[in-house]
Amino acid sequence: MTQDELFKVLVAHCKEYGFIFPSSEIYDGLAAVYDYGQMGVQLKNNIKNYWWEAMTRLNENIVGIDSAIFMHPRIWEASGHVGAFNDPLIDNKDSKKRYRADVLIEDYLGKIEEKIEKEVAKGRKKFGEAFDEAQFRATNPNVLREQAKWDEVHNRYVAAEKANDFAEYRQIIIDCNIVCPISGTCNWTEVRQFNLMFSTSMGSTADGANLIYLRPETAQGIFVNYLNVQKTGRMKIPFGIAQIGKAFRNEIVARQFIFRMREFEQMEMQFFIKPGTELEWFKKWKETRMKWHVNLGMGAENYRFHDHEKLAHYANAATDIEFNFPFGFKELEGIHSRTNFDLGNHQKFSGKKIEYFDPEENTSYTPYVIETSIGVDRMVLAVLSHAYTVEELEGGDSRVVLKIPAPLAPIKVAVMPLVKKDGLPEVAQKVVDELKYDFSYQYDEKDSIGKRYRRQDAIGTPFCVTIDHDTLNDGMVTVRERDTMQQERVKIEDLRALIEKKVSLTNLLRNL
Ligand code: ATP
Repeated sequence: MTQDELFKVLVAHCKEYGFIFPSSEIYDGLAAVYDYGQMGVQLKNNIKNYWWEAMTRLNENIVGIDSAIFMHPRIWEASGHVGAFNDPLIDNKDSKKRYRADVLIEDYLGKIEEKIEKEVAKGRKKFGEAFDEAQFRATNPNVLREQAKWDEVHNRYVAAEKANDFAEYRQIIIDCNIVCPISGTCNWTEVRQFNLMFSTSMGSTADGANLIYLRPETAQGIFVNYLNVQKTGRMKIPFGIAQIGKAFRNEIVARQFIFRMREFEQMEMQFFIKPGTELEWFKKWKETRMKWHVNLGMGAENYRFHDHEKLAHYANAATDIEFNFPFGFKELEGIHSRTNFDLGNHQKFSGKKIEYFDPEENTSYTPYVIETSIGVDRMVLAVLSHAYTVEELEGGDSRVVLKIPAPLAPIKVAVMPLVKKDGLPEVAQKVVDELKYDFSYQYDEKDSIGKRYRRQDAIGTPFCVTIDHDTLNDGMVTVRERDTMQQERVKIEDLRALIEKKVSLTNLLRNL
């Protein structure tokens, strides 16, 4: 299966098993908006818990808040979003379809990278053991030609991005003959700036109504509460404020399922520090956040840092943690050193003094900030795309299994009487009563045991517990583990501890 096909299959699987549905589906859906179903919501909540506890419980100096989505419109002037939260858009005159000019160029570069990787894979196959990848890349004429093309376009693109030169974006698109996938033509308009914020109005009369924005990030709710939290929590610098909540962006091209949505959820933490210490803290948060990801066991090789070549005018360091999604390495989380830009601007725009008095040094200053910002939905997609596995079994059978990290799995244990009679359901009910206070569970007595296992594999349940006739005599049940499919006999009273060991969020947090 190609990565593209795998992605399509995954989207269908998410719908079939109650993870993610298109929004308003009976009205044919709403573009780039999705609903989480009965499984998806539990996966999402587990991810949020892991982040929230790692931030607010494992760090004495980080507290959480929950600020409103509606905020005073001046906030978005102060933050720079009214003036500069834009994407460069371009229309194809024939198909009338709209695209992000930067994404068209990045996709073009991505295709060249794919071609190079294909050549390398061919070489590996041809030369077998003797294959020297570095030498192949340095000498193979096809690779060299593609690499030269990539370098040239990439250099032009980076320069255009740095200079905000939109005419050059268009010129690159034309020079590379990048066509619209719908019309197949290169008949493009000029590149224009498009503000990504949604707006609505607040107030009952048209005259008195205020233009209100739906927040495009949760961070500003933290900045405008900096003084409240610092004072009421008697927080001493360095300290952090964490928040999880919805954000809204009118994305021009919304594709790739829940990777780029118009309504999504963020987990953001702003860490307030003394000016001059930012690079040290930036490094610390890069390490801390990478550890949080790798701790889930989805393979360290599937993450990488991508340091920003172009820094926003207020930032003095920025990096993305990228994940190996089915469509390549893409941003999952951003870590930014934002200086005192936000607090400084809110001070200017609100006229309120936003400073920290350092009692040890007897001075006041506007704190600097390190931000960590991750999309909940992108994290859900990372987990699901990594988890989705098709396995060939003995006897020509196959199974689809979601190898979700056990502490994040929506359902932790399935309880199944072998048959629906002979007193087995009653014993199964007792097992449920033993487990339900600690674990999310499903009770299933329908169909053959094999079919029931497949259903649980398909939603990623780490353990299935079967009650059979022997249970009536020896008080033992069969526990089947999701990934290895191995089965063992366990006493009912030992079940809780066995399951707990593997699915516990506490153990996951302890490893950090
Ligand atoms: P991108 O370059 O992919 O548009 P961004 O750099 O604009 O992302 P940030 O503003 O840094 O993203 O937002 C922080 C995080 O929020 C991102 O790393 C991502 O996980 C998530 N995020 C941003 N936009 C979206 C979106 N439209 N849909 C889902 N998640 C998003």
